[in-house]
Amino acid sequence: MYKLNFDNRFVAELPGDPDSSLRVRQVHRACYTRVMPTPVASPALMAYSPEVATILELEPEEIESRDFAEVFGGNAVLPGMAPYAACYGGHQFGQWAGQLGDGRAITLGETLNSRDERWELQLKGAGPTPYSRRADGRAVLRSSIREFLCSEAMHHLGVPTTRALSIVTTGEAVVRDMFYDGNPRAEPGAVVCRVAPSFIRFGNFEIFSARNELDVLERLVDFTIGRDFPHLTGEPGTRRLDWFREVCERTATLMAHWMRVGFVHGVMNTDNMSILGLTIDYGPYGWIDNFDPDWTPNTTDAGGRRYRFGAQPRIAQWNLVQLANALFPLLEDAEGLQAALDAYVRTYEQASRETNAAKLGLSTLDDEDAKALAELQGLLARGEVDMTIFFRSLATLDLAAPSLAPFEAAFYSEAKRHQCEEALLGWLHRYAARSRLDPMPRDRQVSIMNAANPRFVPRNYLAQQAIEKAEQGDASELLTLLDVMRRPYEEQPGREAYAARRPDWARQKAGCSM
Ligand code: AMP
Ligand code: MG
Ligand code: MG
Repeated sequence: MYKLNFDNRFVAELPGDPDSSLRVRQVHRACYTRVMPTPVASPALMAYSPEVATILELEPEEIESRDFAEVFGGNAVLPGMAPYAACYGGHQFGQWAGQLGDGRAITLGETLNSRDERWELQLKGAGPTPYSRRADGRAVLRSSIREFLCSEAMHHLGVPTTRALSIVTTGEAVVRDMFYDGNPRAEPGAVVCRVAPSFIRFGNFEIFSARNELDVLERLVDFTIGRDFPHLTGEPGTRRLDWFREVCERTATLMAHWMRVGFVHGVMNTDNMSILGLTIDYGPYGWIDNFDPDWTPNTTDAGGRRYRFGAQPRIAQWNLVQLANALFPLLEDAEGLQAALDAYVRTYEQASRETNAAKLGLSTLDDEDAKALAELQGLLARGEVDMTIFFRSLATLDLAAPSLAPFEAAFYSEAKRHQCEEALLGWLHRYAARSRLDPMPRDRQVSIMNAANPRFVPRNYLAQQAIEKAEQGDASELLTLLDVMRRPYEEQPGREAYAARRPDWARQKAGCSM
């Protein structure tokens, strides 16, 4: 752990806040405030990701040492670390919300591993910062497990994401109002160490534009390009536009992945949009069980349903428009920005066609196929059919004699099933005929489908079961689930229960995950 090699460019190259106190305030003309994590009563390691440890070149003995829990629980800082909280703003639920910032996240520093890869280490739940507004800067074990588990699962699912190294319990209680009954409840606290090449969000740029601090905006843009997009060369004018276009393209690719695996972020505010096109800020997110484009896990969004599953690609585009507006005073090229936004639409359409072709095992998805897919989605919604089980099972369909047999485990309601099964069978017959005509050999179709349609996703109720045990001090279910999610496209005999549809008792209540 002491051989972690720090190279803290964000604080070295960008303007910071001269005041390093924790006083809640508006911070002007600064990209960050230097603050220390607030110590906790008794930090203890609950779980860690072996893959992230490998990336950071940390040995298991180092991670299991007492020192590790001290540092990654926020009680000690290693030589070379330079902790800070970033200043950013954002559009929340469609409205400009002003300054937000890292209210409970504190970056410890940027490390370089022996392959010269840059990884920023950030504690979430490490105590108050000048950006904490009315909140406590802490995180509960429940939300920490959800972030830790899901971000690692997303990585193994092939979805761009921030990572998580560790989860350290604090030995302290954190009080939260529960959404579903409005009563305060004391819960165990925890600190997650998140890891990503960069945690810069759209909102980091928006704040300087909104305040007309254009010289700081310019420095942040050029810093981001230089540090996080070093492949973009050429003169400043075109380079900045190339950069925005790449942000659009990466975001489009990300949306195609979310739609492929059935992930619903739930709070797609611009402060929760990564400039690298990573999934970031796992809050009230959820996974689609029965296919439903209108489902959102976010209770506070229940009226507007802005952040429902099917709306995600459109909301990402809206967020990119906000970023374009923020960059306009610097780039002064409306046509160029618009062309990049158009590239978002094209890239999403292309990526979405490719992932959908793969989900169906077709070599290409032509317009007829796209129509057939839309029809299928309508049937899955109407019939309350499990998205993950349906698509995974599609590869086992007997193309010579299609039937509903492979999908027995995918239905949530007998009544809904009866309403759609005839139409679904008809669809499967047409699909089988289409698949037989596809130039791809059958074994290739099957392998492509099995690489696009996960067998396992971290369903909300599975995470909840792991959380309830962990809150009693038993991390075994968390560790098992983490292990299952390391190979989400493999069959994993003996672990069928983790691929089962959501049980009736766990019918999704939205929310309750902050
Ligand atoms: P989110 O909706 O989780 O992305 O958070 C929006 C803003 O609220 C960010 O500035 C967060 O840092 C801040 N925030 C959320 N929870 C807390 C907390 N417990 N303490 C301090 N700030 C918080
Ligand atoms: Mg956030
Ligand atoms: Mg959050």
